[in-house]
Amino acid sequence: MAADYLKLIDERRVREVLADLVRIPSVNPGFPGGHGEKEVAAYVTRFFERLGLPVDVQTVEPDRDNVIGTMAGSADLHLLWEAHMDTVQTSGMTVDPFGAEVRDGKLYGRGACDTKASLAAMLVALETMAERRLVPAATIHLAAVVDEEITYKGVSALAERIRRGELRCDAAIVGEPTQLHAIIAHKGVLRFRIEVTGAAAHSSTPEKGVNAIECMADVIAYLKRYAGERFAAQRHPLTGPPTLCISRIEGGVAPNTVAERCSISVDIRTAPGQEWEDVWTDVRERLAGLEPELPAGATITVHRPFLTDYAMEVAPDDPLVLAVMEAANAYAPDRQAIGAPYCSDASKLTRVSVPTLVFGPGDIAEAHTAGEWVELAEVVRAAAVFVHTAMHFAGRAEQE
Ligand SMILES: [Zn+2]
Repeated sequence: MAADYLKLIDERRVREVLADLVRIPSVNPGFPGGHGEKEVAAYVTRFFERLGLPVDVQTVEPDRDNVIGTMAGSADLHLLWEAHMDTVQTSGMTVDPFGAEVRDGKLYGRGACDTKASLAAMLVALETMAERRLVPAATIHLAAVVDEEITYKGVSALAERIRRGELRCDAAIVGEPTQLHAIIAHKGVLRFRIEVTGAAAHSSTPEKGVNAIECMADVIAYLKRYAGERFAAQRHPLTGPPTLCISRIEGGVAPNTVAERCSISVDIRTAPGQEWEDVWTDVRERLAGLEPELPAGATITVHRPFLTDYAMEVAPDDPLVLAVMEAANAYAPDRQAIGAPYCSDASKLTRVSVPTLVFGPGDIAEAHTAGEWVELAEVVRAAAVFVHTAMHFAGRAEQE
């Protein structure tokens, strides 16, 4: 019977640390008026220093540092805990974004749920082990990283360090609101533009032009049929099938002119196992095959994606998954290993061969909302899960 680490977690400290983090604005600078992560990074650095842990600062961009604290373990094994420090914008919020107000056991504010709750749980877990002189089984690296909400620069820099062998990492937990379930597979994404060019003419004589909007209607119908047939066959048991969404359309210049141009934005969510390059190439080749079926003079251009991210998965019987599931269920019943449609930092770590899952307190439905909150009791349980995992994770070393 494993120790009950929940008893060791100081609820008051969880509330304090989370409130501290929420009160420090860290809106991603990619959003209008964004503050950046600098002050949160300074807070996390001081936190590690106060615990006497070595701190490694990785500058990603000027004033944007990943902060990595390390607590040595007894086994020859390194476990990464990763959480992003940035948040989305605060416009339209109905609660004080930086007030950290507590009502009915919930703490409110921007980032409370996504993902300062995870970061607070990790920090308090380390503090609890340091103060109780508990030596974790695995060496723990806690990486607080920049820029998850926009372009993943923080985790990408961290992954590059792992790839080059400068930071050893045998497994990783990425903190995001999962309600203490373990996300062991999530989708990837690619977004790209498709443009149809035709020929303008007066709208009273449409036969003299080539209507790009009407051609695009054929392209869209083709894409929906393509996705319906092809993606259904690529269903992943945990994430479901890939999806396709036409998210923008623009075309035409005037009500009395045959449209010479029309363009759409396509958002495709890939399932684990699919590479965005393959999906994009397939769409491009098929639309090249459709072009001769359009009116003469119409051309289809499939542009390179302007945004991509990888899907990820980790085996359900991976030692990391088993360890986190055991820990989660010790403090919160009926937690499961599940899939998710959204992207996270995790896929950048699985790309450098680190088995990774996503886990943390809070509900993803609360992320980015006008009244963002997290239940404090769940953050406390998350801290216990992190301690439990650190104390018991034996990873692959035990099996080999
Ligand atoms: Zn997040």
